[in-house]
Amino acid sequence: MSAQEVYVAKFKDAKECAVSFTFDDGNVDNYTIAAPELEKRGWRGTFWLNCSRIPGEINQRKGIMTWDNVCDLHSRGHEISNHGWNHRNLTKISYEEAVREIERNDSAIFAHTGVRPVTFCYAYNAKNDKIIALASEGRVGTRTFQYAFGEQSSDVNLRGRMDKAILKGEWAVWMTHGILRGYDCFKDPSRYASFLDYVKAKDSNVWVGTFREVAAYVAERDDIQLTEVRKGRRIKVTPSLSLDQSVYDMPLTMCLTGVVRLKVRQGIRRPPVVYKNGDAYFDFNPHGGKIVINYR
Ligand SMILES: [Zn+2]
Repeated sequence: MSAQEVYVAKFKDAKECAVSFTFDDGNVDNYTIAAPELEKRGWRGTFWLNCSRIPGEINQRKGIMTWDNVCDLHSRGHEISNHGWNHRNLTKISYEEAVREIERNDSAIFAHTGVRPVTFCYAYNAKNDKIIALASEGRVGTRTFQYAFGEQSSDVNLRGRMDKAILKGEWAVWMTHGILRGYDCFKDPSRYASFLDYVKAKDSNVWVGTFREVAAYVAERDDIQLTEVRKGRRIKVTPSLSLDQSVYDMPLTMCLTGVVRLKVRQGIRRPPVVYKNGDAYFDFNPHGGKIVINYR
């Protein structure tokens, strides 16, 4: 019998590709259409806000989600995150102003939701090395790449892009500004829904997670060291992660090749095991200490 190989899956649940749906600028249709459509398919999204534009704030604008909307999305499991206090181009203002633009928005989101954002999205996608370093402090990731989805892309283009991402095993980060209004919005909600359906049909290959979840997973996966001790049909695996537990708190998926059946224990936890294509996988806590695997 060949030796069993133990490794951390590229993406959660050993999926080949990851997808995050992200929405910039806080348009109210993010609340009325975008989020409910995601939820219908069992997914959550990432909503990047400019809090000074929220109704009641100093630069309030029409058509932007209220704090009640934002808090409701948060309580339903969506990620509420930082797109800058007033949507300023961080590469065109002083460093001190950029610091304020980021921190003020963090504080406002924290004050209302109780959670400080651990991701960031650059207004106008404008960034340079210095701004990226600043915005990345204490965060699991910032949005430095994305695929636009909206009325400027045909259904064929969107689907082709998604297919390619699966083929290449990518993390596809989708960006739009709204469904009915906003830059490159869909205008027609049924086009948005039909793209989601297309991704949903690829469920077995695609993990849909918030930007925070996938960014944390990827960073943990790339950092983790596994130490193995083997005896008979038992493998003890000790994970060690150098990343800060308070921010990097995503469970990882461990895979074992060439096993028929296995039992897993990590501390008092006995994670359920899933079998797929002759391999087995299960979730573990990368900060949770030794994992004992008995197999046959
Ligand atoms: Zn924006």
